[in-house]
Amino acid sequence: MAVRNFQPTLTNEERENRLLAAYAMFSRDSAGRLRPEPEHPYRSPFQRDRDRILHSSAFRRLSGKMQVFTGNMGDYHRTRLTHTFEVATIARTIARGLALNEDLVEALALMHDIGHPPYGHAGEDVLAECLRDHGGFSHNQFALTLVNEIEIRRTESVGLNLTQEVLEGQVARIDKNVDKPRPLLEVQLVDASDSTTYDAHDTDDALKLKLVTLDEMTEVTIINEIVTLIRRESANLSNTQMRKAVVYHLIDRQIEDILKYCANQLAEYDFKSAHEAMNSKFLIETSLELTEQKKELEQFLYNRVYRHPQLMAVRKKAQNRLKKLFDQLVKNPHLMPPRFQNRIGTIGLERTTGEFIAGMTDHYCEHFFTTNFDG
Ligand code: MG
Repeated sequence: MAVRNFQPTLTNEERENRLLAAYAMFSRDSAGRLRPEPEHPYRSPFQRDRDRILHSSAFRRLSGKMQVFTGNMGDYHRTRLTHTFEVATIARTIARGLALNEDLVEALALMHDIGHPPYGHAGEDVLAECLRDHGGFSHNQFALTLVNEIEIRRTESVGLNLTQEVLEGQVARIDKNVDKPRPLLEVQLVDASDSTTYDAHDTDDALKLKLVTLDEMTEVTIINEIVTLIRRESANLSNTQMRKAVVYHLIDRQIEDILKYCANQLAEYDFKSAHEAMNSKFLIETSLELTEQKKELEQFLYNRVYRHPQLMAVRKKAQNRLKKLFDQLVKNPHLMPPRFQNRIGTIGLERTTGEFIAGMTDHYCEHFFTTNFDG
């Protein structure tokens, strides 16, 4: 029998009133969408944003984009897609702990990396160089271009028509120097979760890929403390169990630190609205002690992992390929899909070429280059 008049047990507004703290971003206070739309009967505006991002082409392509390590190094390590899901999960855990808006947090987390070009930061550097005289390139900016100007939905107008809060959250990622007023707590939280996530999984991947050993990593204070703790609790772990225990504690320690450090301050500040929190000095972040420990770990990862000769070789090869691809496409714009060619009149040949390349996965980029210019 068809269900005719479905009514959720709790309306979205009732749910939010029960679950969210006063300093959270409530859907009812949303500035709405550029093109107004009627409310959905049972999904909140931020749930709809999350779903639009999840169902976008750019989101699915994250599975073919490297985070730090490439597909040539096996299948164990994170891609941008698995990184994104880890960020979303950690962000939701913290959001729930602090009674922030989980739907908004999830939308922001799923969106945060969709603007990454192929080959991670190596790819971004090349595109920025190629577009130096044409506005440059930043993955955070490109995420906005994707959701506003490139992605296609079932509607006639182009773009995902996301809420202002999600769009402004992404804008805040572009210019982090502007600190008055601060972005919404949900936006700050996703930023903190991004860092929590990559510090843990880059350690995991680097150990698994044997770019460094756990012994070498114990020169880092936080790893040393965690390893000591694990050894005290369990004496007979295999290398794999040990690695997994390290990652577990790395994530757990960071989340717990953020929750404790922030919950205490939030109780003292006693904000009455999201707006009040944005106009204060409060930031969602780790405690001073953990911030220092994270810096030390990140410095180690930078020197010993991200700058590892094996990764530097991949980086160099990828950059040469992208540069050649850019030069060739500028000379042969007819090779781009029609909807990109149609953008040339609006944003120019170079930016269009950059955007077309930025949307590619690592392997599509290889394939496109080999097929058209290297056959
Ligand atoms: Mg990220």
